[in-house]
Amino acid sequence: NDIQVLLICGGGGSEHDVSLRTADFIQRELAKSPGIQLTRVTMDSAGRLQDAEGTLRELRSDKLLYSASGAAQPVDYVIPAIHGYPGETGDLQSQLEILGLPYYGCGPEASKICFNKITTKLWLSALGIDNTPYQFLCANTAEETAKARDALKLWGEVFVKASSQGSSVGCYKVSDEAALESALQEAFTLSPYVLVEKCLKVRELEVAAYTYEGELVITAPGEVCAPSDTFYSYDEKYAEGSRALTHVVAEGLSEAQLGWIDAASRRAFVGLQLEDLSRIDFFLTESGEIYLNEVNTFPGMTPISMFPKMLQNHGHDFCAYLTALIRRAV
Ligand code: ADP
Ligand code: MG
Ligand code: MG
Repeated sequence: NDIQVLLICGGGGSEHDVSLRTADFIQRELAKSPGIQLTRVTMDSAGRLQDAEGTLRELRSDKLLYSASGAAQPVDYVIPAIHGYPGETGDLQSQLEILGLPYYGCGPEASKICFNKITTKLWLSALGIDNTPYQFLCANTAEETAKARDALKLWGEVFVKASSQGSSVGCYKVSDEAALESALQEAFTLSPYVLVEKCLKVRELEVAAYTYEGELVITAPGEVCAPSDTFYSYDEKYAEGSRALTHVVAEGLSEAQLGWIDAASRRAFVGLQLEDLSRIDFFLTESGEIYLNEVNTFPGMTPISMFPKMLQNHGHDFCAYLTALIRRAV
C-alpha cells in the first residue's frame, strides 16, 4: 500500500510565501519516490487548510483528512513545511503528537526553543556553546529600552531583533539613537521580547545537520555573503535581484575552525534534541572567534536555500533521505 503523506505549507507568519517555495521543492522531490502519495494543503492566516483545487480540508483525530463534501482520506505521515508560526514554532507539531501522527522534523519543544532567539541563547549558554553578546529587553518600557541605548553606546553598532521571527524579518542594523528608537518600536510590534546584539563583522557559515539512516550528519560549512553595504536581509535572501552570494562549501577555514563548528553543531543537535533536520548558522569574526548564531529547525528549501544544496554536496540525495525517514517512521 502507498504511504499517504500530507504536506502542509503556508501558515500565518511573515514567511508564508517562502514556505510555498519550500513545499514546491519537497513536492518535486517526493514525486520521484514510488509508493508515496502526497497531498498538499496550504494553511491560510486563519489556520484553514486548502488543497490544490481550493477545497477546504480538515485533519481530524481519526487521522483522516476530510474535505467539505465529507470524503475522507487516510494520513500516515505529515510534513509541516511551515517557516514560522505555527510550524517552526512547534504548535503544529504538538497537535500532531496528540493525534499520534508521525511527522518530519523536530518536536514541539525543540522547535519552540529554537524559534525564540532568547531561549535559543539560554540553551546554547547552558550547553556551553558561545553565542553573540546581547542585551535582553523583556518589555517595551522606558526602563528596558534604556538598556538598548547603553548597549548601542557600548558596542557602537547593534542588531535589534524581534525574538520570534525568521528570514531576517524584524532584524535591524542600527548605529544611531534615532534608528534604534524606530527599530525597537517595530521589533516590539512583531514579538513581545527583543534582543539587542553586538554587531559583528563576520563571515556567515552554515551547516546542514540531519539524520541519515539513524546517524547524525553534519556537513562541511557553506557560506552566505551579503553585499558589503547591508546584511543578509529578507530581500537579499528572496527578492528579485538579490545580490547575496552563497557557496556550498566555505573556503579557507582552518582544521581547528572546522573541528569547532562540527563539535558545536553536534552538541547543539543532541543537546537541543533536534530531529531529522536543521540548519545551524555560525558567525566567524575577523579576529577568529566563532559564535553559534541560530538553529533553524525547518530551514528554507527554496532554489537559493543552503540546506538542500549542502545535503546534496555531502553526497546525499534529498529524495532518498526523506523517503528513508518516512519509511522508518511509518
Ligand atoms: P533570522 O532568524 O531572521 O535569520 P538572524 O539572527 O540569522 O535572524 O539574523 C539575520 C541576519 O542578520 C544574519 O544572517 C546576518 O546577516 C545579520 N546579523 C544578525 N545578527 C548579527 C550580528 N550580531 N552581527 C552581524 N550581523 C548580524
Ligand atoms: Mg532564523
Ligand atoms: Mg538567520
